[in-house]
Amino acid sequence: MKVLVVNAGSSSMKYQLFDMQNEQVIAKGNCERIGSPDSFIGHKAADGREFKETIPMPTHSDAFERIVFALTKSDAAVIENMNEIKAVGHRIVQGGAIFKESCLVTEKVIEDIESLIPLAPLHNAAHVQGIRACIKALGHDVPQVVVFDTSFHSTMPPKAYIFGVPYEYYEKYGVRRYGFHGTSHRYVSDRVAELEGKDKKDLKIVTCHLGNGSSIAAICDGKCIDTSMGLTPLDGIIMGTRSGTLDPSVVTFIQEKEGLSAPEMAQYLNKKCGVLGISGVSNDNRDVTEAAQQGHERAQLSLDILHYQIAKYIGGYAAAMHGLDAVVFTGGIGENNYITRELVCEYLDFLGVEIDKEYNMAHNKIKGHDIKISTPASKVAVYAISTNEELVIARDTVKLVGGIK
Ligand code: ADP
Repeated sequence: MKVLVVNAGSSSMKYQLFDMQNEQVIAKGNCERIGSPDSFIGHKAADGREFKETIPMPTHSDAFERIVFALTKSDAAVIENMNEIKAVGHRIVQGGAIFKESCLVTEKVIEDIESLIPLAPLHNAAHVQGIRACIKALGHDVPQVVVFDTSFHSTMPPKAYIFGVPYEYYEKYGVRRYGFHGTSHRYVSDRVAELEGKDKKDLKIVTCHLGNGSSIAAICDGKCIDTSMGLTPLDGIIMGTRSGTLDPSVVTFIQEKEGLSAPEMAQYLNKKCGVLGISGVSNDNRDVTEAAQQGHERAQLSLDILHYQIAKYIGGYAAAMHGLDAVVFTGGIGENNYITRELVCEYLDFLGVEIDKEYNMAHNKIKGHDIKISTPASKVAVYAISTNEELVIARDTVKLVGGIK
């Protein structure tokens, strides 16, 4: 059974085609700069054949047409025609308080996703365009499923998701913590339970998804009880370009001093802060790590802050869960930077965390292999696990359409 996973952004459309018989990716690609004259598609089949084309794609529908071409007619085609695709799964960033789990797409579901556009203006609007483009190309007979970044976090109790502002704003505008990267936190927490040979319900896990955007989640009895991202993905630890949690006065102070409007300030907090803003070097963890190794003080400071903040979250979540059995590192940084894993774990010695530093260093980039870096004596299991959000979406899709056909 072939399932297409689609991740539509405001100017991009990423996709992966899975054969769910063996959960292998048959082909994947990305349409970029949708809406610009120089938009292009890059497509790669699992056997290495590639198809690249620069062609105007004014809308997501035009992009999806090129995806259909890439999959069926290009030099890197992998299927005869689109009838072979039995279902489509879409990644949706914001499911608000409406979507507590993945579901089949109906007109009402599309309307509900649209109703959440004020909470995620760029993302949800693009997702709806992506869904509509698929319906236009494939018709209503091919079932479509939506999988939300937020739904794994919907089990959080009010004490974790209510902010310290008047309750009316929660009631009136839905201002609360939603959390993101839910599919990743779900995948790696399931995987750690599998690797530990235990039921997820018996574990207290902290999952650290560290990429361009980063978030940390506390998972107790198989349920997320808290997470670091908030109303938007801006909250939590410092990220490549996002500020993470701040004294709210910092926002109004800078806004006033620099004469910025609210949208300009939001853009500033999302694009110019975090590791980039502190280091002045880059938002990319590789560049900043290299600069720090060459003695760049602010690069080192930005990394010190990052590690310190991650450790504070883990310590805080251990208290929130009354214990800690496992810590997972994932995402581009968690999967590729042994230094981050080592330095965060150094803070956690008081919890009985002990890692095998040499093994961790020797397995710097885990490249699809999940590794346990804690020692047998460690009171807490520590893993680096390769996340796979697309596979979670494909699995949910298969489940919702009634299993493999
Ligand atoms: P996204 O959040 O966009 O999905 P990723 O999970 O791919 O991002 O993570 C991107 C981050 O991972 C970047 O900061 C990048 O520098 C970092 N990264 C990737 N490879 C390495 C590496 N070898 N060493 C350190 N950091 C890395």
